This record gives sequence, structure tokens and C-alpha cells, in this order.
Amino acid sequence: MTAQRIDGKALAAQVRSEVAVRAAALTAAGRQPALAVILVGADPASQVYVRNKVSACEQAGLRSVLETYGAELREAELLARIHTMNQDDAIHGILVQLPLPPHIDAQRVIEAISPRKDVDGFHVASAGALMVGQPGFRPCTPLGCMRMLEHIGMGKLRGKHAVVVGRSNIVGKPMALMLLAADATVTIAHSGTPDLAATCRHADVLVAAVGRPRMITGSMIKPGAVVIDVGINRLPDGSLCGDVDFESAQDVAGWITPVPGGVGPMTIAMLLANTVQACAQG
Ligand code: NDP
Repeated sequence: MTAQRIDGKALAAQVRSEVAVRAAALTAAGRQPALAVILVGADPASQVYVRNKVSACEQAGLRSVLETYGAELREAELLARIHTMNQDDAIHGILVQLPLPPHIDAQRVIEAISPRKDVDGFHVASAGALMVGQPGFRPCTPLGCMRMLEHIGMGKLRGKHAVVVGRSNIVGKPMALMLLAADATVTIAHSGTPDLAATCRHADVLVAAVGRPRMITGSMIKPGAVVIDVGINRLPDGSLCGDVDFESAQDVAGWITPVPGGVGPMTIAMLLANTVQACAQG
């Protein structure tokens, strides 16, 4: 058996065109959705991510406001800038690219963003809303994973066992809560999980968000499972690979996301969707 691929690039294009239609309607009503992106320092990967986000905005008819600062920026100055943007009615979403330089407290910066503009979904109010099932912005990467599951008819997961490997605040934990909200029975695995392979083999839906190249192999996958690979790892030769060993996994899984071209494009598409939502909510 060879797994069917979930084409994140194609699905992201679909989401982006839906976003573009909503953005055009809002713009016609005199309210163009706008995303402010703040980059501090010169981390090359962050520069690429920020560029991609800005160009995705432009392609979908959103306005983007990019502000770049040197790594020596003081935390107080960054907080002041965010406070100004919170008050600016022409800005609907605010994103501070992580990581921040070590002298800046990232959590304090995230908490400074108004939850109404927290399109990354990292604010503690957004995390709390997800936890208790209230409306709020959901983190873009797990939101994109859920959209992929819906796309293959797995949006409702009652009776299914989902295993999330990784428990970060931006991917693993919110992913687990979203799967739970879809009625899955959820296990969260992490570096202290004793028999990861056995845990993974229970999964009807397996989400890998670890940051270790190809650590999930075919022998850890239940036949027919849906495998969502969030990992983006750069190999010494410069190429990218996921946390799942695609070659061995595709012989066992029912569905699988490739890397690149899987979850990555969905993340940006959901960021645009959240920004348009923020604008629509006023
Ligand atoms: P973190 O480093 O914050 O978290 C990694 C998690 O993996 C931790 O919870 C850690 O456990 C767990 N882990 C580490 N080693 C093992 C192990 N041997 N067995 C089981 N669990 C382990 O990473 P992120 O969540 O930020 O990102 C994960 C991956 O997803 C990265 O490759 C990142 O690049 C990618 N990513 C991709 C995005 C996309 O758009 N596609 C967006 C965001 C991230 P513990 O908590 O115990 O340390």
C-alpha cells in the first residue's frame, strides 16, 4: 500500500483564494485587512519567513506593514511599538517573528499584543480560549493541520485515537487541544515518553512536531493511519526533511503530508485567514 499524499501546497492555495475573496469584500467596504509583522535582528531563517508572510499578504490583497529592527532594540521600545499598533484601527493583526534576541522576554512581548490582534494565537488569552472552547485565534500551524484533516474527511474524530509527538506551546499542545475538540482520544508524547514507537502505533492520526529529522519511521505507524508531519529540518546538504521518514512511512500510512509542501504552506495560509477574521471582527 502506498499512502495518499495530502497536498498542502494545493490546499493552501485554495485557502488563500478564499481569503482573497473575503479580503476584497472587506476592502471594498473601506476596511482592507492589514497585518503588521515585526522582525528584530538578522536571523536568516526569520528573514525568509517574514518575507514569505509579507508576500503572501500582498498576493491575497491584504496590506502588510513590515517593521525591522536591529538586534540591539530595547524591550521597552518593542513593547511601546506594539502598544501603538494595538491602538491603530488600520492594523488588524500583529505578529512578532520568533525567536527574539535573548535580552527580550518573548512571553512578555506576546502578552503585550492585544488578543483581538493576536493572529498567531500565542497570547495566553488565546491559549486559554482554546483550552475552554471559547472563540479566539488558534495557532496557525495546528489550525492548518486541522484543515488538512477536514479536507480528507477526518475533521470529526470521535472513536479515533490521535497521538501528538511534541508538546510545545505553539504546535504540540494546541494541536492536542484541537484534536480533543474534534472528539479524538488524544495522547501527547514527548522526550520523556518511554516507548514512543508503541505509543505511535496506537494512532489513527499521528502528528509529529519534534524537530528531529525522520525520527518517526514506518515501523512506528499503524497501517492506514493519517500522518501529519509538522517538522521542518534542514539537512547538512541544505535540503529539507520532516520528522517522519517519508520513504518507510508511505508504505504503511493511509495518508501522509510531504515535507516540503505539506504543513508549511498551510501555516501561512491560516495566518492570512486569521488576519482577515481579525479585520472582519473589527
Ligand atoms: P520544540 O523544540 O519547541 O518542541 C519539540 C518537542 O518535541 C518537545 O515537546 C520535545 O519534548 C519533543 N521531543 C524532542 N525530542 C523527542 C524525542 N526523542 N521523543 C519524543 N519527543 C521529543 O519545537 P516546535 O514545536 O516549535 O517545532 C517542532 C518542529 O516543527 C520543528 O521541526 C519546527 O521547525 C517545525 N515547525 C514547523 C512549522 C510549520 O509551519 N510547518 C511551524 C512551527 C514549527 P520535551 O518537551 O520533553 O522537550
